[in-house]
Amino acid sequence: MRFRHGLSKRRILITGGAGFIGSHLCDRMVQEGHDVICMDNYFTGAKSNVAHLLSYPNFEILRFDVREPILLEVDEIYNLACPASPRHYQTEPVRTVETSVMGAVNLLRLARETGAVFLQASTSEVYGDAQVQPQGETYYGHVNPIGPRSCYDEGKRCAETICFDYRRQYDVQAKVVRIFNTYGPRLAPADGRIVSNFILQALHNKPITIYGDGSQTRSLCYVDDMVGGLAAMMDSPDDVAGPVNLGNPDEHTVRELAELIVALTESKSKIIFGPLPEDDPHKRRPDISIAVEKLDWRPSIELEIGLSRTIGYFRRQLTFDTPS
Ligand code: NAD
Ligand code: UDP
Repeated sequence: MRFRHGLSKRRILITGGAGFIGSHLCDRMVQEGHDVICMDNYFTGAKSNVAHLLSYPNFEILRFDVREPILLEVDEIYNLACPASPRHYQTEPVRTVETSVMGAVNLLRLARETGAVFLQASTSEVYGDAQVQPQGETYYGHVNPIGPRSCYDEGKRCAETICFDYRRQYDVQAKVVRIFNTYGPRLAPADGRIVSNFILQALHNKPITIYGDGSQTRSLCYVDDMVGGLAAMMDSPDDVAGPVNLGNPDEHTVRELAELIVALTESKSKIIFGPLPEDDPHKRRPDISIAVEKLDWRPSIELEIGLSRTIGYFRRQLTFDTPS
């Protein structure tokens, strides 16, 4: 078995491992031969996302809530546990804040206890409705602390704070990445995010629901690229603590994304316009120069290719879900 960068076999804890990004990270780490513990409470994830890994001897699954303290012998912790779609995190905002903040504290304590390297999945949402474009890591952000998105934005900002405090005060090897919009197979169909919504609407020839006038922008990163960035950050030297932006700088308006998905699915869907949600960021594009320089990482999967794969995934799901 060959390991990344010549590293030996690791015991890896992936919280939120049954979610969208987490399940792809589990795939990669299991394939690399590491011992993987997938921890999840299934708030927004699903066992089916990792069911194919259950027969591997180096994979185990633990139903657990990161808001509770835990002691496990591990070498690396990827903390991905947190609802990520606005629809999900706004359903239970208190639970969202608790998951980000208490989860980070509990897992940083575990890292301190075991000497594990700790990687926090933060988010581009820490920049809020950014007033600079593209967003670089030195930008402090423009976040409403009391709005409907704040449970997520401020929860993640506080999780970042605790990471750097554990680093300074206890010498824990804590690292932070800021993940920008990511898409791919295993996005939850009902999570209300742009890619899952538009693809499902297009496949059903239903209206494509653009919120606002569609001029707001997002930059979409395919999940395999994102997983590569997470692994590269974990394997980086200890002095690379971040925060490091991970995302694809290829920026599109929401309207362009709707039109592209309609074209790729050859759908008959019409585009309709609805109200823009409160505090919806107008522009989002990562500056990834630190990731390129420090991690030698950059995304490589083009939007049309990634979207075609994702459309293929949703088509297969619909075929399986439809009773014959
Ligand atoms: P997801 O909702 O698919 O996955 C999150 C997982 O965490 C789910 O399996 C959920 O059940 C689990 N979870 C939630 N609360 C938990 C708790 N208290 N204890 C244990 N498990 C819990 O979301 P995702 O898109 O895979 O996002 C993964 C991580 O990446 C999140 O931390 C998110 O904030 C971050 N992120 C994602 C994106 C994106 O575009 N997907 C963008 C920025 C940041
Ligand atoms: N969006 C939209 N229609 C949808 C879902 C989302 O127009 O059916 C817009 C949303 O208002 C936002 C962008 O698409 O401007 C991305 O939304 P998403 O929820 O995927 O992620 P966000 O980046 O807002 O967290």
